[in-house]
Amino acid sequence: MNAHSDPDAWTVEDERMMLDTIDRWCREKVRPEVMEMEHADEYPHQFVEDMKEFGLFGATISQDYGGLGLSATTYARIVMRIAEEWMSLTGIFNSHLMMATVVEKYGTDFQKNYWLPKFCSGEIRGGLGLTEPNAGTDLKAIKTVAKKEGDDYVINGSKTWISNGIMGGAVALMVKTDPDADPRHKGMSMFITPKADPDTGKVYEGFTTGKKMQKLAYRGIDSGELFFDSYRLDAKRHLIGGEEGTGFYMAVGGLELGRINIAARAVGISRRALEESTRYAQERRTFGKPIAEHQAIQLKLGEMATTTQASELMCLHAAQAYDRGERCDMEAGMAKYFASECATENSLEAMRIHGGYSYSREYPVERLFREAPLMCIGEGTNEMQRIIIAKQQIARNRI
Ligand SMILES: Cc1cc2nc3c(=O)[nH]c(=O)nc-3n(C[C@H](O)[C@H](O)[C@H](O)COP(=O)(O)OP(=O)(O)OC[C@H]3O[C@@H](n4cnc5c(N)ncnc54)[C@H](O)[C@@H]3O)c2cc1C
Repeated sequence: MNAHSDPDAWTVEDERMMLDTIDRWCREKVRPEVMEMEHADEYPHQFVEDMKEFGLFGATISQDYGGLGLSATTYARIVMRIAEEWMSLTGIFNSHLMMATVVEKYGTDFQKNYWLPKFCSGEIRGGLGLTEPNAGTDLKAIKTVAKKEGDDYVINGSKTWISNGIMGGAVALMVKTDPDADPRHKGMSMFITPKADPDTGKVYEGFTTGKKMQKLAYRGIDSGELFFDSYRLDAKRHLIGGEEGTGFYMAVGGLELGRINIAARAVGISRRALEESTRYAQERRTFGKPIAEHQAIQLKLGEMATTTQASELMCLHAAQAYDRGERCDMEAGMAKYFASECATENSLEAMRIHGGYSYSREYPVERLFREAPLMCIGEGTNEMQRIIIAKQQIARNRI
């Protein structure tokens, strides 16, 4: 059983009620507002308050720390449903949960008790700060440095593309504590970096934010630059795990759940593309009949329905393995790769089915088409994904 889920806390009926509540919220509150907020790139303050109330900021964190203790399977189902409405919303709690998960998995007892209740309630929200201007896939090339001074560390450097970095209150930050380490990963550590001291409310001057990225999609949620200039933190609260040199393992350790989450978002995009296309194909008539009766359109719908269901099953298969406590990096990677490629293809097919109207901002399919490619990039690009899957395939079947 994985470290996060709390199986005794949730009956099948409880989970169904949670999913029903999310479904109702999606239909009644989210769907009517999304178009306008997406095009205005507006931060969804009210939806964040709603998600706090549902407990989503502690969805997979143990109830011991104020989380919901949901299984990865139920969590994936929630992510799928919300991504059908607006993928951006899933990023607001998912990136945050990646920060919280690192503390839950690798933090000291003191750090878990100190940070997790604040994270689970949504009082402090944040994300994962890995990427730098010159280091994305090649994470070990980061340049941000934390130098030990007595009981403190002093951090200097910058990050970019960090989701929730501007609107959030803290980040799980990857730094180098030994820039000369060989191998490089041994010199990497992870810190919780708040903008203000949670005990005193004092704002730290050494942590500032820069520009918010103007993005193709994934709007509403902020992704931006972070700067650290002689930013001083005590080790006890902030150096995750209390030991230098383990940061790279923490990032890798979060990838299974991270990839299940990206796969689930992709399933949501595919489902919505299918829903919109199925309806439109029956409404739109050409040559005296609904376009759904033209075989060319039927071939598209048949393909979309099949790959959407396959994506969902692969995602749930990985989530169930995770819930059983099994190693599932390969399964999660396969689900992420397959579901994201299908979402990209399905959103394009939805555009074709909608013809010229797909170009109108009044139809959601143009948003799905912009949203889907991020699923091919996030949590390890799909190029890397296939290489990692191949390595696992060989390792598990060595002759
Ligand atoms: C909307 C958005 C939100 C983001 N949010 C966050 C966030 O919250 N936190 C965070 O830390 N980062 C975030 N990122 C950054 C994201 O994680 C990186 O963009 C991603 O890791 C890829 O890194 P890169 O952009 O530097 O591409 P690069 O690493 O420069 O890669 C460019 C291309 O080269 C390929 N490539 C690279 N190395 C290899 C190799 N060895 N073999 C084969 N192909 C290779 C890649 O697959 C890709 O196709 C976000 C990005 C976006 C667009």
